[in-house]
Amino acid sequence: MSLEADPRWQRFNDSSSPCPCCGRVFSGVFDIGFDHPDPWPHGNRADSGEDVLSAGTDTLSADLCRMGEHRFIRCVLHVPIIGSDQTFAFGPWGSVNPQNFERYVQAELEGTLDAFEGCFAWMMNRLPGFEMKDWLPCNLLVPDPGQRPILEVHDGAHPLARLQEDGITFDQLLDIYAAAGQDIRPHLLQS
Ligand SMILES: [Zn+2]
Repeated sequence: MSLEADPRWQRFNDSSSPCPCCGRVFSGVFDIGFDHPDPWPHGNRADSGEDVLSAGTDTLSADLCRMGEHRFIRCVLHVPIIGSDQTFAFGPWGSVNPQNFERYVQAELEGTLDAFEGCFAWMMNRLPGFEMKDWLPCNLLVPDPGQRPILEVHDGAHPLARLQEDGITFDQLLDIYAAAGQDIRPHLLQS
């Protein structure tokens, strides 16, 4: 079933039709990224205004993080939206072993990421709207060297893996936004 007929979806995608209650405009699907892996203890990089946030030997950039013995790569986890041709994405961090991290960084430097065969990664952010007690085992893959690597959940039976496969409804997407602190649901219904 297409979302085209849903008036909430129409307002959500039409930046020329502001909400009557508050004037807020929406321009469609936006991703939910994470500034740093959840265990990073040195604060928010974006808030710091620095390209690279450092504390001792720990470093955090927009794409790479070194924390003690741990190595993290910023990734994307795609979820298709049912009834549309659009995809929502989380931007979580993947924890990879140091050898794989160095291989990845080296391949990026040399422009050979298209030959990177992927590696195991733990997803190191708790996604809003999901019950996540433990870090999730994933595959980190680089289908497009011009884009961030993607994460695919290992366990095909995990609810998140099912969503990656089957997609989410618009209502589920709005629930995720609300869980992330951006409850736009009331503003899509005002007339
Ligand atoms: Zn409003």
